[in-house]
Amino acid sequence: MMEIFTVSTGRREAKDITPSIKEAVKKLAGGRSGVAFVFTFHTTTALVVNEAESGLMDDLIDAYFSIIPKLNYKHNRIDNNAEAHIMSSAVGNSVALPVEEGELKLGTWQSILLLEFDGPRTRKVGVKFIAE
Ligand code: ZN
Repeated sequence: MMEIFTVSTGRREAKDITPSIKEAVKKLAGGRSGVAFVFTFHTTTALVVNEAESGLMDDLIDAYFSIIPKLNYKHNRIDNNAEAHIMSSAVGNSVALPVEEGELKLGTWQSILLLEFDGPRTRKVGVKFIAE
């Protein structure tokens, strides 16, 4: 069983999706402990655990793009978003999170951020729960 929800994104941005994940985990775990596996179903988005401070969320996007070399990408002949694909694959499209007695167990400043590298779009995120 998997909970799937959608997220509306801007062109390039980090979105805090923690509330939706907490809701999905509550539903799936039903008070049990285990692991929540969170997955984004796209090739130009990524997931990270970090602080949902608006300045930092912009910084993450800017910094990631700045470390991608400006090459003559072959994929850009098709849809001009090779950098977004490379960012997505470098950062990763899933995170595994601890769940204790039905609740997501995060550090004080930790949130789950969906990184959009090629929006605006409607994105799908899935949450799977594995009981211990
Ligand atoms: Zn593409």
